[in-house]
Amino acid sequence: MDFSLSEEQRLLKTTVRQFAESELLPHSREWDEKQDFPREVFSKLGEMGLMGVVWPTEYGGSGMNTLDYAIVMEELSRVDAGVALSLAAHNSLCSGHIFLAGNEEQKKKYLTPLAKGEKVGCWGLTENSAGSDAGGTRTSAVRDGSHWVLNGSKTFITNGRIADTAVVMAVTDKAKGKKGISAFIVERGTPGFRAGKKEDKLGVRSSDTSELVFEDCRVPAGNLLGREGYGFIDTLRILDRGRIGIAAFSLGIAQAALEASMKYATDRKQFGHAIAEFQAIQFKIADMATQVAAARLLTWRAASLRDSGQEHTVESSMAKLFASEISVQVALEAIQIHGGYGYVKDYPVERYLRDSKLGTIGEGTSEVQRLVIARELLQLRGMVR
Ligand SMILES: Cc1cc2nc3c(=O)[nH]c(=O)nc-3n(C[C@H](O)[C@H](O)[C@H](O)COP(=O)(O)OP(=O)(O)OC[C@H]3O[C@@H](n4cnc5c(N)ncnc54)[C@H](O)[C@@H]3O)c2cc1C
Repeated sequence: MDFSLSEEQRLLKTTVRQFAESELLPHSREWDEKQDFPREVFSKLGEMGLMGVVWPTEYGGSGMNTLDYAIVMEELSRVDAGVALSLAAHNSLCSGHIFLAGNEEQKKKYLTPLAKGEKVGCWGLTENSAGSDAGGTRTSAVRDGSHWVLNGSKTFITNGRIADTAVVMAVTDKAKGKKGISAFIVERGTPGFRAGKKEDKLGVRSSDTSELVFEDCRVPAGNLLGREGYGFIDTLRILDRGRIGIAAFSLGIAQAALEASMKYATDRKQFGHAIAEFQAIQFKIADMATQVAAARLLTWRAASLRDSGQEHTVESSMAKLFASEISVQVALEAIQIHGGYGYVKDYPVERYLRDSKLGTIGEGTSEVQRLVIARELLQLRGMVR
């Protein structure tokens, strides 16, 4: 078992770190407060090939693998988790669905500009009454001649107000339950499609999160994505990679919290000593570093399994579950190590705690990850979601 990164991967890690520290770090506090980051950040990520990390070069992507993607996500999230989350929704979810289920024409027309960073994508599954139980989707799509007519709304959609291309799930055959849900590509500007309320969030505030609203929205029949009735089935496969991205997102925040804590513990003096000299602080740092290392191994294992074409549903969920839970714990301990300074905005650790919590909720809560892991291990498919 080889745990080392290749020369190219080390270079990728350094390059993304330098980009994040020079282009994101100076603005992250302001973006957190404003709940926004400029559109040109996406263009810069596109110029670096990060808007389509894993897609083949023939579709404008960088042709890298899932481990490379995990490295990119960790490094961006280490500096600005909101930017990383927006990239994840664009990459793994929207572009991922088009790559998995799209026909050649759809890939050329929609995936290529997304992968190049010319366009921004979002992906709409969640509704106000269908969260963990996404099979309870109510947004409907009714065939009318050469079009589908969409009605309904989506909730908590990352990049909802800024995306040019949306992939949305809608019910095409109510009688078939989960097997009656299909995916559609909807372009911004399509009559009857608009973004709704922008959410005012606890964390990942630089990332846009809003509703999507469909009112008699007529979508060309050619924008059905994948086979009719396969929207939910394809979603489960898309989330296998998505969860590796959220694991890496959580890992990046935990890494940042660890680094900030080590620096602060060395600088801060009380009772005539750096607080790093007190065993109580040393034990915290040791536990935090061990948790971060374990989360990285789980994340890289899931990515490596995917890259070698092996089954990885359980491993993706384990990585996401563990990395997101330890990320919250590590961020909490980072605040404790900073004392009162951890509780105020002059230091970034309070933001790390707020940002880390999203990892335990997005792309399936921690409870849902446990259901997935248990279902797969106990072979209970069909008994629990
Ligand atoms: C910032 C942010 C960005 C997001 N981005 C997107 C996006 O881009 N696209 C998208 O489609 N969605 C997105 N989401 C939605 C996200 O995936 C959902 O919030 C998540 O799946 C949980 O759904 P819910 O919020 O409705 O919670 P609920 O499903 O109502 O869950 C509430 C609680 O009940 C628990 N629970 C539910 N069912 C069970 C069960 N069977 N057993 C045990 N416990 C259970 C949950 O774990 C949770 O603790 C985003 C959410 C946030 C906050």
